[in-house]
Amino acid sequence: MPAIGRNDPCHCGSGKKYKHCHLPIEEAARAEQVRLRRAVDTLTPKVIDAARAAPDVVPDALQRFWNGKYPPEQLAELDDLENRGAERFLTWLAFDYRFDDGRTLVERLAEDPASLELNEPERQLLPQWTGVRLRAFVVESVRKGQDLDVRDLLSEQSYAIADSAASRRLAPGDVVVGHLLPAGEKRVIGGAAAHLTPDTAEKLHEFAELHLEAFRRDHPDAGFDELLRTKSEILNHFVMALPVEAPDPSLLDQIVLQTRVALQLAGESIGLGGRKQDEGRDEDVEG
Ligand SMILES: [Zn+2]
Repeated sequence: MPAIGRNDPCHCGSGKKYKHCHLPIEEAARAEQVRLRRAVDTLTPKVIDAARAAPDVVPDALQRFWNGKYPPEQLAELDDLENRGAERFLTWLAFDYRFDDGRTLVERLAEDPASLELNEPERQLLPQWTGVRLRAFVVESVRKGQDLDVRDLLSEQSYAIADSAASRRLAPGDVVVGHLLPAGEKRVIGGAAAHLTPDTAEKLHEFAELHLEAFRRDHPDAGFDELLRTKSEILNHFVMALPVEAPDPSLLDQIVLQTRVALQLAGESIGLGGRKQDEGRDEDVEG
């Protein structure tokens, strides 16, 4: 689309010059987007600090997020033991962990933000963050140094990500286990996230299907959204099981097999759809 000059007729067809019609509106919207994008970078550490200041729940939250692997004394070492492990844990604690009253820390803060000393755009953002949970995303396209598009691995929903740092690290097909924070019309990968190789996508999907099947014993109609609103830590359990060095396909199969055994699911019991059976289907063959 060619840029319109300030003195050209406005694209809306009003007959007025662009500078007297939609130019100021569009400039204001862009400035607002920039303000909100900056507010993500200042609000995120405030939320993480609030999580750090909730030591009562740390033992229970740590046990769930790391599947019992690390005692609370090791929290300080987690950034070394697991890639950015302490920060990933605190991000999860803030957004996903439910306190005694059933609310998450972010939900509590959004209702009573006085303790955080927020500026105006931060105040605007916080209520939009209450629905954010740890999820898995597949990178669809990247404009290096600018932004990227991702798709939720389980809901298939697509999101535009305004995150220039992430756009330099990630490539199409990569998997991200993290939090997508709304920032105006776009989203930003918030706090610390786990970055996985493309070959993990399919197995992570199978892994989540197994957990959903087990979850449905008590919640018959649940979908992935309900599963992850209740126990999103399973996504980190998958991340923990992966090797840090080279990709290892046999290990991916092992993770799924061990999960099946641990959840006491039968051999071929995945019946959640999404898996195509090629046998016996009529294929259109040319010629
Ligand atoms: Zn106009």
